[in-house]
Amino acid sequence: DSSNGSSEPVVCKYKLPTVKFTKLFINGEFVDSLSGKSFETIDPRTGQLIGRVAEGDKEDVDLAVKAARHAFDNGPWPRLSGFERGRIMMKFADLIDGHVEELAALDTINAGKLFSIGKAVDIPQAAHGFRYYAGAADKIHGEVLKMSGELHGYTLHEPIGVVGHIIPWNFPSNMFSMKVAPSLAAGCTMVLKPAEQTPLSALYYAHLAKLAGIPDGVLNVVTGFGATAGAAVASHMDIDKVSFTGSTEVGRVVMQAAATSNLKSVSLELGGKSPLIIFDDADTDKAAQLALIGILFNKGEICVASSRVFVQEGIYDELVKKLVEKAKAWKVGDPFDPSVGHGPQVDKKQFEKILSYIEHGKREGASLLIGGKPSGDKGYYIEPTIFADVKEDMLIAKDEIFGPVLSLMKFKTVEEAIKCANNTKYGLAAGIVTKNLDVANTVSRSIRAGIIWINCYFAFDKDCPYGGYKMSGFGRDMGMEALHKYLQVKSVVTPIYNSPW
Ligand code: NAD
Repeated sequence: DSSNGSSEPVVCKYKLPTVKFTKLFINGEFVDSLSGKSFETIDPRTGQLIGRVAEGDKEDVDLAVKAARHAFDNGPWPRLSGFERGRIMMKFADLIDGHVEELAALDTINAGKLFSIGKAVDIPQAAHGFRYYAGAADKIHGEVLKMSGELHGYTLHEPIGVVGHIIPWNFPSNMFSMKVAPSLAAGCTMVLKPAEQTPLSALYYAHLAKLAGIPDGVLNVVTGFGATAGAAVASHMDIDKVSFTGSTEVGRVVMQAAATSNLKSVSLELGGKSPLIIFDDADTDKAAQLALIGILFNKGEICVASSRVFVQEGIYDELVKKLVEKAKAWKVGDPFDPSVGHGPQVDKKQFEKILSYIEHGKREGASLLIGGKPSGDKGYYIEPTIFADVKEDMLIAKDEIFGPVLSLMKFKTVEEAIKCANNTKYGLAAGIVTKNLDVANTVSRSIRAGIIWINCYFAFDKDCPYGGYKMSGFGRDMGMEALHKYLQVKSVVTPIYNSPW
């Protein structure tokens, strides 16, 4: 038993996956880094070494960009019909489906993610992402322009060129698919740099991409660190666009690098401190469940986590009681165990950062209702942690903690809820729980965030764009919006007859 009160998390027996791919994937081949260097990849369940992975640096990024540039300028991928690109992407999706177990297990040992969710959601959704954009690849077209009488004009939507994708560690498979699928459909070629914490599944996907028939040089994966390999992508003179997901601090650095190099186009999906607002008329059972999942899903390592929960005063006491009861029943333990609610934080650094925020919350005078400490004596497990009496100016109410730590606040009126919800530099997501349509409509239009969930949370779909307002970034992933960020518009104009032009 690893329920919250016990000190020892569940450690279950599971045959661990064999790690087959640990080298850089450049121009269709797995290769060592030019320096010959490698770095450790760690299992957060134990803090122990899984193995070593090639450490790419600037010279390796240069090689990968050269391959991607050649594939874009001379290769078949951008020139294939959209239908043909889509057909190959469908095959890629089928291969992903055929390797669900291995891919899910790699994300579990590398990121501490739940294996059951990986098999049922993350990996099938990654495959589905390729199918969604495969279906769009032959439907990319411009429009006929209503020009003056003598001119005929139309637009072409052309692939933007070589894309650099820089992704974080919290959803290694979804992030890979979310970035790679629309850019492939658009006809781009690319270099992807996975997070240093989670290089393994990206390399496996690269292997499957080759099997699917994606031509050499179209998809390159350079594993390595942010300050070296990541920075080389952001500042590369021959990359046309950088699509970044990660922290607001690094997003700013990436944008600066783009500005001072070749003014490449940038899109940024950054941090969040998303509010969930629960009104007096809510079903308290359902609302408590949403609040619980909103902060504990993926151990709080999710950019849209509902880390600030605002509860209207009429149901505050009842809701808090139910929330704490549910949190007590939540299991923390080995992510291979199907009965577990959440596994370890991704690494020691994240684990320590979360614990230091918890200490901060206590010092600032918030009331710790449950949790607040590590779970077990090895690995990076943290108990579900709920603070009440949180004030808006406390650090735990302002900073993105990126862990299973919830801040509860009480409010009286709709206006007050809107004001508090918007009192953040971030604007990624928000949730509203009410049966009152007027309240739901008013609040959803008043909150400055990229996605609003009414009477649900984390309701994602491939067709539903999401991304940030304010310092949560700009540009949208998913949906047709994401396809358009990898395209650029060219206008073509011709005179119809005897034109003065
Ligand atoms: P991070 O910003 O430290 O790292 C993200 C990626 O950027 C990694 O691949 C890293 O190697 C790379 N990187 C680091 N320094 C770099 C540099 N100088 N130049 C170029 N690349 C560099 O973020 P993290 O701690 O790995 O991830 C957590 C953060 O990501 C959280 O803030 C979270 O909110 C955010 N996130 C946002 C979304 C979203 O869609 N908005 C999704 C997931 C995570």
